[in-house]
Amino acid sequence: MFIQVKDLRKSYGQGGSYVEVLKGITLSLNKGEMCVIQGSSGSGKSTLLNCIGGLDLADSGSILVDDLEIVGLSLADLSNYRRRYLGFIFQMYNLIMNLTVRENIEVCRYLSDNPLDVDELLQILGLTEHQHKFPSQLSGGQQQRCAIARALVKNPKLLLCDEPTGALNSELSKEILILLEKINRQYGTTIVIVTHNNAIRNMVDRVVEIKDGIISENFENVNKITAKDLENL
Ligand code: ADP
Ligand code: MG
Repeated sequence: MFIQVKDLRKSYGQGGSYVEVLKGITLSLNKGEMCVIQGSSGSGKSTLLNCIGGLDLADSGSILVDDLEIVGLSLADLSNYRRRYLGFIFQMYNLIMNLTVRENIEVCRYLSDNPLDVDELLQILGLTEHQHKFPSQLSGGQQQRCAIARALVKNPKLLLCDEPTGALNSELSKEILILLEKINRQYGTTIVIVTHNNAIRNMVDRVVEIKDGIISENFENVNKITAKDLENL
């Protein structure tokens, strides 16, 4: 098991503003699995993702990633963990605006002992011809592809995506999801995607739904459709 979350709890605030967001989440993911997390707005999807990614601290419970216990790590060890294991993709692309596409990717390459080849990534993500442009010269879909390349270049074992298609229209969203599936196949990256996009439910290995702070649905897709099928939809 690559990720094992056990009885994870997380709340925010105090007194009148106290809110219990995660009320005992238990979830296991295999290495190389592609999983989607769904649930209504405010249900705790980002909180769960951020706890797994060491961007937020759980109150109690356990999160094992590759047998490393994340809950209770010091901030320095969390930072090390993120650096060693993780790639993040967010709804907002968070690109560095005064660096070119290629430079945005290269700055993250140095975080890894085992990075991917930048030219190969540019090729896979269809960015070769845009590599010398600045983010402001790109469309939303191209910017998100650049953000994906940047998250991937250090060859992370785990890629966490929070509403990666949230700012894109449905055609571009499909394109991004097809790319994530391709990356999952090509590099065996374990990928967790928080999304409202229902089209993706059929093309991942596992679908998880959060409701009222607990997991209300968790099933494996036995007949998942491939990117190739999706391209023909
Ligand atoms: P989702 O991603 O499913 O929309 P979130 O995980 O962002 O939900 O938020 C879950 C709940 O936790 C919401 O009620 C939100 O207002 C609250 N929340 C999230 N982050 C914080 C924070 N840093 N401080 C206080 N409340 C927060
Ligand atoms: Mg969210």
